[in-house]
Amino acid sequence: MSIAQDPVDGPIGQALWARADQVLPGGGIYYSRSADFAGRGVLPGFIASAQGCRVTDVDGRTYIDFLCANGPNILGYRHPEVEAAARRQAEQQTSASFFPPALVEVIERLVARVPGMAFGVTSKNGSEVVSLGVRMARQHTGRRTVITFDRAYHGSDPELANRPPPGPLSDGVRDIVRLPWNDPQRLADHCAAHADTTAAILLNPLDQNPGLQTVAPSPEFLGAIRAAQARHDIQLVFDDVRHGFRLDPVGSFRPLGLEPDVAAFGKALGNGYAISALVAREHLRAAARKIFYTSTFMFEASAMAAAMAMLEIYERDNVFAHITAMGERLRAGILAAAAKAGQAITYTGPVTMPTLLLADDPGGARLKMFARAASGRGAILHPNLNWNLSGAHQPADIDETIAIAAEAFAETPGPG
Ligand code: PMP
Repeated sequence: MSIAQDPVDGPIGQALWARADQVLPGGGIYYSRSADFAGRGVLPGFIASAQGCRVTDVDGRTYIDFLCANGPNILGYRHPEVEAAARRQAEQQTSASFFPPALVEVIERLVARVPGMAFGVTSKNGSEVVSLGVRMARQHTGRRTVITFDRAYHGSDPELANRPPPGPLSDGVRDIVRLPWNDPQRLADHCAAHADTTAAILLNPLDQNPGLQTVAPSPEFLGAIRAAQARHDIQLVFDDVRHGFRLDPVGSFRPLGLEPDVAAFGKALGNGYAISALVAREHLRAAARKIFYTSTFMFEASAMAAAMAMLEIYERDNVFAHITAMGERLRAGILAAAAKAGQAITYTGPVTMPTLLLADDPGGARLKMFARAASGRGAILHPNLNWNLSGAHQPADIDETIAIAAEAFAETPGPG
């Protein structure tokens, strides 16, 4: 079966692609969030509706979804209480001329969740709050350089993006230093030699990238990060945009024993409504006050109401325990299904955000065949991006997915 001859998109989806190809720019714009990232035809291109853990494409085919909108769907699509909270707020106002009360309420709640944090800022996307956190660190220290690690993704801000911008480099891009993940000596040496110019370490909780094994930070590496904070006053800007709420109920820095100066959240915070946030320690407040930061929709209030409902439900229903249990069930089932089909696989990363790799699969061509076979049977198992579990995935959904994966493994050719 060639993917091109048998795309998962039906006639309506294919017609929309034909129109999209005329008016969308293509290339890197939208790319990693489009179905094209997996190869055209592997995953459904256009989603018409979503409910619980399932999405329905424009041709009316329904899939159990393990991408979860690339993170936001943590409680289940269209969770009734989140929808009701957002709707109640929208009946009052969405964007009006000045602050909505929900702004104070949501920031109070966010600050209270993370021990040691004193103030916060909300925005709409992860990139915005990560970049704002970096600006606070620079303003506070009076230093320019920011350390990030290897291929770490921190959003599409050209300065922080993990691929060099195609055009001429700006000075900002030159102020980013990429050091190897899990090399405590390199980090310690760099910080000692450049303490007077290094503003921040910008950190993800895991080294987790498309097509690669997920690597956790070593205790020694974490020790070097803590030492950089303590010895050199380098600010720790923790990017929990992707992993927040799926590695730990409070923040992914907590199980790592880190105490960030700024922590940035996004994705899951609004359960699908557009809200991101950072929280920061008191010592950064004076620096933060000097920064000019605004945007038209940053006070859009229905997303704030959605975030407050999300936080409430997430804690009340112990969603973290649920996604962990469902992730363990999925992992066990996928490993067994692969073994039965004689497929050598690596199932890597936390069970709530796993990545599947096939052995001897350079470029991931066979994994795409697997993903296409799974799509055809009704499960979105993205071949490039990590999967995400949600509170709406129930044991029956997991078991249905494992049965789909078993057939997809059987249909996928072996290496060579
Ligand atoms: N940081 C991380 C770790 C991310 O995964 C992302 C988004 N994938 C971002 C930042 C940027 O968030 P956004 O796309 O909402 O701007």
